Amino acid sequence: MTEKNTKNETPFKVQTEQFADIKILRFRVPGFEDLLTSQKILLYYLYEAALAGRDILWDQNFRYNLLIRRSLENIYKTYKGERTGQNWETFVVYLKRVWFSNGIHHHYSMDKFVPEIPSDYFSDLIKNSDFAGFPGNFDETDSFTETLIPLIFDEKIASKRVVQDAGTDLIEASANNFYENISQQEAEDFYQKLTDPDNSRPVSYGLNSKLVKENGVITEKVWKVGGMYAEAIEKIVFWLEKAIIVAENPIQKATLSKLVDFYRTGDLDAFDEYNILWLQDTKSLIDVVNGFIEVYGDPLGRKGTFESVVSIRDVESTKRAKTVSDNAQWFEDHSPTHPEYKKKNVTGVSAKGINVVIESGDCSPSTPIGINLPNADWIRAEYGSKSVTIDNIMTAYDEASKNSGAIEEFAWSDEEVQLSKKWGNLCANLHVDLHEIVGHGSGKLKEGVGNPADTLKNYASTLEEARADLVALYFAIDPKLVGLNLMPEISVGFAEYNSYVRGGMMTQLVRVEPGKNIEESHMRNRQLIAAWAYEKGKSENIIEKKTRDGKTFFVVNNHVLLREIFGALLREIQRIKSEGDYEAGKNLVEKYGVKVDLDLHQEVLERWKKLNIAPFSGFINPRLVPVFDGENIVDVKIEYPEDFIGQMLEYGEKHSFLPTKN
Ligand code: ZN
Repeated sequence: MTEKNTKNETPFKVQTEQFADIKILRFRVPGFEDLLTSQKILLYYLYEAALAGRDILWDQNFRYNLLIRRSLENIYKTYKGERTGQNWETFVVYLKRVWFSNGIHHHYSMDKFVPEIPSDYFSDLIKNSDFAGFPGNFDETDSFTETLIPLIFDEKIASKRVVQDAGTDLIEASANNFYENISQQEAEDFYQKLTDPDNSRPVSYGLNSKLVKENGVITEKVWKVGGMYAEAIEKIVFWLEKAIIVAENPIQKATLSKLVDFYRTGDLDAFDEYNILWLQDTKSLIDVVNGFIEVYGDPLGRKGTFESVVSIRDVESTKRAKTVSDNAQWFEDHSPTHPEYKKKNVTGVSAKGINVVIESGDCSPSTPIGINLPNADWIRAEYGSKSVTIDNIMTAYDEASKNSGAIEEFAWSDEEVQLSKKWGNLCANLHVDLHEIVGHGSGKLKEGVGNPADTLKNYASTLEEARADLVALYFAIDPKLVGLNLMPEISVGFAEYNSYVRGGMMTQLVRVEPGKNIEESHMRNRQLIAAWAYEKGKSENIIEKKTRDGKTFFVVNNHVLLREIFGALLREIQRIKSEGDYEAGKNLVEKYGVKVDLDLHQEVLERWKKLNIAPFSGFINPRLVPVFDGENIVDVKIEYPEDFIGQMLEYGEKHSFLPTKN
């Protein structure tokens, strides 16, 4: 073990810049220096494999994203005109937003955003840049400009990446690149035919392909070596094969080899086998997610977007997660839910804390703070799942928020501020652990009640997130957590209650545009819980709405009674899920989770504006640099770049393998 030498170093800069609605942060990688050289080399190969897939997501998000990105990058690098002034600055902000969103649609709202510069100015940027550096097979500047300008400036073209509104053809309305010349009905029929309703181990049909109609025939273009995205996937395979050689142990070798099989064949059974192997690899210090994983980018929920997360297990937080996991049955038994809807045998969740080394694709620059995989329900039921809390990301968020002034602005008292600063990081970590490890895995359905996606429909995911959050909240002030050494004192949980109520009643509204309702399911869930608790506790003043200097505050007066309220709501939402009670679920979500108090929203936006904090964050990745002795890598150094633009240009130059389509 090497001693940490931090004494003479300048403090690590967490936030580097802010533009539009985005702030750019950095994270450290604790534990990297303590690794064996072979482990560092393994990380380096996985790092290259992660970045090799980055372009895939750009193309998945919108078929012209790569054309647009490469054009903007060429302007940025070669424009010979004035590189100062309002228009230039606005152009650069637009480029940074495109980088951040992996395309021209907002990463969160999915709406297309356009640069606030005259299109004439944009034409001038093209004319005065190095034409040979532009992508695609355009022969003269004019046709290139004519193609590019509407794609970038016309809000009606490709206006939303993923459309979820019922009553429209979701495929036709969505700008993403998962289907071509296909109607929603045709796509649904295509997959309906493939699905065998009697198979208890259903294949994830459609996960790794684009569905197209050519000459009247509907076929899948599979993402694999020799198929669609071959140029990038071959690079991923190249690096994974190197990783296999230096893998930590036989199970990790077998896991990575199966992943290579999957990329070579595109066979979805191989992907399931890979996931089962991956679940069994709990010993390795280094872990990786690399593949077509989440399906939120497809309105039909089938197509997986590329992502990669390369990580090192964190010893301390894994202890914490393991304690939660080992006691999962205790939590289930002591949950306030109806005995009939409790699991008798809670099993199979392997939990750990990790520090990420690099993230790519759908996990970067914007990143999750917890991951629970694999997604296939039958694998989860038979083999369990891996639940992961990303520690170094959470630490970076905590450090950034401590200095933002937001806690001081929205907390009622100095005591509340101090409590939040003291325990903010720990209570957030515990919340994620309890939510992921205990919450989602808890409870059971009543006999004969179908899958929540079918019974609760469009309210299923909000109610599921609420259920997991309520489990975390209910136990947050349980003395059991102190007994298990998960927290030193109950006031850690008090800090959690305070911040949850502040967030659910007020601060999360900064992510909603004025006049709009709440759409995103995690946000709906948080308001649902906070607003329901506020109303139920009103007569006893459990959560109190106070005002001072014209500002609104929500103050928790009695944490113990608030816990009872959380417990009652948990009991009801578990009942709704277990019984598939659509009407009750709908009423809860619509009454408490969707509508926004217009005056309060306005006030929150104004207070937030004065703080000048962007509501969304993303991260600059560290850079891994191999050290060679002749042909061989003998060591790997880690660097922490501070320049977002520099990193994006570097990725575009060194880790970009897909051709540009006109
Ligand atoms: Zn969740």
